[in-house]
Amino acid sequence: MSEAFDFDLFTLGAGSGGVAASRRAAGHGARVAICEDRAVGGTCVLRGCVPKKLLVMASAVREQLAVARGHGWHVEGTLDWSALMAAKRAELARLERAYEHMLEQADVTLVRGRGCLVDAHTVEVEGRRFRARRILVATGGRPYLPGIVGIEHAISSDGALELEALPGHVVVVGAGYIAVEFASLLHAAGAAVTLLVRGQGLLRGFDDDVRAHLRQELVASGIDIVEHAELESITRDEAGLQLRLVQGPTLATEAVLCATGRVPNTEGIGLTALGIEVDALGRIPVDAASRTVVPSVFAIGDVTARPHLTPMAIADGRAFADSEFGGRPRVVGHEHVATAVFSQPPCGVVGLTEAQARERGPVRIFRAVFRPMRTAFAGLPQRTMMKLVVDATTDRVLGVHVVGADAPEMIQGFAVAVQCGATKAQFDATLAIHPTAAEELVTMATAIG
Ligand code: NDP
Repeated sequence: MSEAFDFDLFTLGAGSGGVAASRRAAGHGARVAICEDRAVGGTCVLRGCVPKKLLVMASAVREQLAVARGHGWHVEGTLDWSALMAAKRAELARLERAYEHMLEQADVTLVRGRGCLVDAHTVEVEGRRFRARRILVATGGRPYLPGIVGIEHAISSDGALELEALPGHVVVVGAGYIAVEFASLLHAAGAAVTLLVRGQGLLRGFDDDVRAHLRQELVASGIDIVEHAELESITRDEAGLQLRLVQGPTLATEAVLCATGRVPNTEGIGLTALGIEVDALGRIPVDAASRTVVPSVFAIGDVTARPHLTPMAIADGRAFADSEFGGRPRVVGHEHVATAVFSQPPCGVVGLTEAQARERGPVRIFRAVFRPMRTAFAGLPQRTMMKLVVDATTDRVLGVHVVGADAPEMIQGFAVAVQCGATKAQFDATLAIHPTAAEELVTMATAIG
């Protein structure tokens, strides 16, 4: 390292991506510092995936109780929301300490405060300047709330994760990951939920059968989905919140959760002065090696246009560290990205949708819709949907799509098969594990299209 530098790497943002990159770089012997102006852990650990999954798991106990009753158990139960939130807070405090400990153990210097780029090799944090050979921007994102009248009465997913009491009725605005996940968990926890969708259908960009099946299951579970509905204003009166819709009725509710997307934290950190122009959505353009137009400055995670998924940020961060400090240049493949939506029921998908595959050439489609044994035996109506998208020319399985219990757990294994380029014939040659729901994915015999 040149004596002119305080550190080999200075990372802005101690979320999953920034921490993973910093620890890996330090493991390669680099001198590393990381700055953070909030708690160490970032969105995933403190305001996203982890607390959300805790609430998903807790709320899903309602269905488990119904299953238990159908299986002969005498059980009743009510959710103590305050106790759940207290347990969640304790778990997040534990995780924050664990993240700080991981940085310490890796010998990464933690600088508290907001970092700003001064030049291609200098970061300023609360008046202190640090010179670094490489700078990594991993400042993540935050919820976007539309600028309508009365938006101050709405909460984002950040606020929903901190609710002190469970509202009797919640309007969730949006139809993406966060909207369907929070609509599901709030409903399962005991709130009445209306999902307000500005277009038609949920989860735009997912396979049409996934979208349709999830919609059907959410409606069947009791969530009210209102499509072609755009929120115009929110007012508060003694009765609660009044929501005026564009060309529609007024809705009364107790809480409004806007799950209308997220924006990258790229303002006010010195990018423009350095010649790094963000795109129209505020995202930093990077090449396959995560390098910006400034050769010493890199960016990973939710500040880029890559899929905003924690494992993606971690993988890109580690690849950056291996390339720049480990003498092992490599880039992460961004094809076959498996993803799960923790709605209730959840979705697990990997690879191409039917529509995407049809654009590339002829396909064969396999689909099964069935009532899984566990809930069917309990007399519950839930249905699972599984779908394979197969290249009709090469026989390769291009996409696997599941909506139903345990879909995220199933899809992780099938993601390996898709990543390896497995063919439908190889799926067929794989012995089923019986009786499971997942066996359906290797026993679908007849193409439906
Ligand atoms: P998404 O981009 O997934 O969805 C945003 C939703 O908000 C869309 O349905 C969009 O509608 C709607 N919307 C946008 N603006 C408005 C508006 N003004 N009025 C009404 N509706 C509006 O964003 P999320 O915030 O749900 O999630 C952000 C990202 O975080 C996800 O894309 C994903 O990458 C990641 N994430 C991943 C999770 C996981 O892995 N399980 C969980 C949560 C988040 P339209 O479709 O019409 O544009």
